[in-house]
Amino acid sequence: MNLYYKSTRNSQLRVTASEAILTGLAPDGGLFVPEQLPVLPIPVKELAGKSYQETAYLVMKQFLDDFTEEELKSCISKAYDSKFDNEEIAPLVKAGNTYYLELFHGATIAFKDMALSILPHLMTTAAKKNHADKEIVILTATSGDTGKAAMAGFADVEGTRIIVFYPKDGVSQVQELQMVTQNGENVDVVAIHGNFDQAQSGVKEMFRDQELAKELAEHGYQFSSANSINIGRLVPQVVYYVYAYAKLLEYGELEEGELLNVVVPTGNFGNILAAYYAKRMGVPIGKLICASNENKVLFDFFQTGTYDRNREFVLTTSPSMDILISSNLERLIYLVSGENSAETKALMEALTVDGSYTITDEMKERLTEFAGGYATEAETSECIRNVYEETGYVIDTHTAVAADVCCKYRKANRCDQDTEKNEEQSEKYLVASTASPYKFVKSVLTAIDEKYGEAEELKLLEELEKVSGVEMPQAVREILDAKILHTLECDADKMKETVKGILKI
Ligand SMILES: *Cc1c(COP(=O)(O)O)cnc(C)c1O
Repeated sequence: MNLYYKSTRNSQLRVTASEAILTGLAPDGGLFVPEQLPVLPIPVKELAGKSYQETAYLVMKQFLDDFTEEELKSCISKAYDSKFDNEEIAPLVKAGNTYYLELFHGATIAFKDMALSILPHLMTTAAKKNHADKEIVILTATSGDTGKAAMAGFADVEGTRIIVFYPKDGVSQVQELQMVTQNGENVDVVAIHGNFDQAQSGVKEMFRDQELAKELAEHGYQFSSANSINIGRLVPQVVYYVYAYAKLLEYGELEEGELLNVVVPTGNFGNILAAYYAKRMGVPIGKLICASNENKVLFDFFQTGTYDRNREFVLTTSPSMDILISSNLERLIYLVSGENSAETKALMEALTVDGSYTITDEMKERLTEFAGGYATEAETSECIRNVYEETGYVIDTHTAVAADVCCKYRKANRCDQDTEKNEEQSEKYLVASTASPYKFVKSVLTAIDEKYGEAEELKLLEELEKVSGVEMPQAVREILDAKILHTLECDADKMKETVKGILKI
């Protein structure tokens, strides 16, 4: 075994991949990162023609090297099976001159399924490897999609319990129904009177609460995290960028070595960080374009080098990106600081205390592979309509934020025939398509035609079938007449008491 993980806030702390997955967050509040970012053992072109599962094994074993071949292959085959309604798992669609990587073919029709269908298996395997004897309690804050995907992934997985917190008025009706109808003996979901950041801060606080950890241990429990701060979430997400590039080679859409720009609708910075890891592994990715909605903290950060969460929190039609603290950015900050854990720690503490921090010019210079963009609500909705009118393809609100940013970036950076072609600049763009339009049906249809504005959300599902020509996914069909099983609510400052109540401690 060669690859260890360390905390972004303490380089002295060294753990194995399976320990990092089991613990989630480092005890010092930092995030686990690999000591060296691994590279692909073979050229990407040799991956052309490989299945998603084969690619997943090849990529993930570079990161999770204390898992045996048998263990990892078993996790992969349990995760990427008929729960996905498309054999390719993450199919590519070309609409106009843009490639869309559809990451929403899993159980809950959003991209969180890509990682959360495998995380429970990685975690229970990790628990066995480390002889952990306590029941794992997964504590998750969700802006809508993670919660359901985590519940679906962990439901009735032996040795685990899961408790999900979501902002009561911050998710779509389909999202809420998906969560409150979830089956499983070990599953609880709580609506908090607050926003996503409050839910996430509450969860983080519980993770750091040593008293609580002791109480839990006395009752045979230990916490872990299914949020994208868990390295077991991030690693499976690297796979689809490698896979997508290999597929585009296979289809003849890219030439060997040709750069591909990637545009990612971003919230917690997990998905785009995975694309960056894929680039560092050797995939010829050009620019990493970070797309935000009106909560454009990240756009401002890439412009100015100052991360400032002190601003109004905007509720948008892309709720899974309504986030002011992008936790995974810490992993990038750590890298551009030259893996300086003291500096990273100081910046993150400033974020907690002052709500902002500024990186040095030297650090900012190391961010040139990234570009930031954002789309307003009006631009997002216009983009859905334009893409539909021009190509017939229906995209969801999150994907549309990225598609709009892609469009603007492309215009601003078009390689002019008269000027010398910039070698770093590519004309090929991949947009990460993170949710099925069925999940945000009302916003999507209203964008296409205002007449849908008055209709009840659930009534529109069949209408979308007609407009898009894409059949309603099973995941949507089944919630329509499912029973509501969860009704618990709590105030944002009562999350700890609620958890204790659920666990009866
Ligand atoms: C979670 C989510 C995002 C944001 O992804 P991050 O990894 O948190 O940046 C974007 N779109 C959808 C639909 C999501 O569920």
